Amino acid sequence: MTLALSKGRILEDTLPMLSAAGVTPEEDPLTSRKLVFATNDPGLRLLVIRASDVPTFVAYGAADVGVAGKDVLVEHGGRDLYEPLDLGIARCRMMVAGLPGALDGPASRPLRVATKYVETARAHFARVGRQVEIIKLYGSMELAPIVGLADVIVDLVDTGNTLRANGLEAFTEIDTISSRLVVNKASMKMKHAAIQRLLATFATATGGGDAAAG
Ligand code: AMP
Repeated sequence: MTLALSKGRILEDTLPMLSAAGVTPEEDPLTSRKLVFATNDPGLRLLVIRASDVPTFVAYGAADVGVAGKDVLVEHGGRDLYEPLDLGIARCRMMVAGLPGALDGPASRPLRVATKYVETARAHFARVGRQVEIIKLYGSMELAPIVGLADVIVDLVDTGNTLRANGLEAFTEIDTISSRLVVNKASMKMKHAAIQRLLATFATATGGGDAAAG
C-alpha cells in the first residue's frame, strides 16, 4: 500500500499518528530529500509530494491513499476519489481579503481577484453574483493588492498574521478547511482490508470519526 503525504503541516501532523500506530519510516521524511520511504510495515510505503499533486497521484492509483487539504480537493474536483475521513488537521479558512474598502469598488469593471485557488474563487463570486476577473498566482498572493495587481485575493488564513503584516483585511469567509483522507476507488475494492486498517489507524488518532467508505 502506498500513502501520499505532503511536506509541511500535513506531514508534521500525520507522522505522529502513524507513529502512534507503530509505523516508522526508514528515514525522517521531515529532513530527508527522498521522495519514497519504506516503513517498518513491509506492506506500507510513503510518498512525499507537493500538496496539490496528492489528489492526482491517488486518482490515478499511483498512491492508494493520500492526505490532502479541502482547498486542494476543491481545486482538483475530487473526481475518482473517495473521501472517507476528515482528519481535522491543518485547519484554516479560505477567505476573501484586500486593502480596507476594496470589495466596494470599482463599479466600472469586474473586480480583480488574485489567487492560487481559481475554481474556489470562481465558484464563490458566481454564488454571490459578482463579476470578476481572476488572476492566477502561485504564491505571495498578499502582494497583489499592495502593488495594484488585483483588488482582492482569495487565500488561506490561519492566524491572520500574514494579512495584518501586509495591511490587508479579511472580508468574507468562503469555507473552513481541514485535511482529508482520500482513497483511490479501485484500491478501496481491491485492498479493502488494508485500507480499512489504515482508516481505523487515522480515525483512532483523530479521536474517533466515521471511517466508513464514502
Ligand atoms: P496566517 O498568517 O497564520 O494567517 O497564515 C497565512 C499563510 O499561511 C498564508 O500564506 C496561507 O497560504 C498559509 N496557510 C495557512 N494555513 C494553511 C494551511 N492549512 N495549509 C497551507 N497553507 C496555509
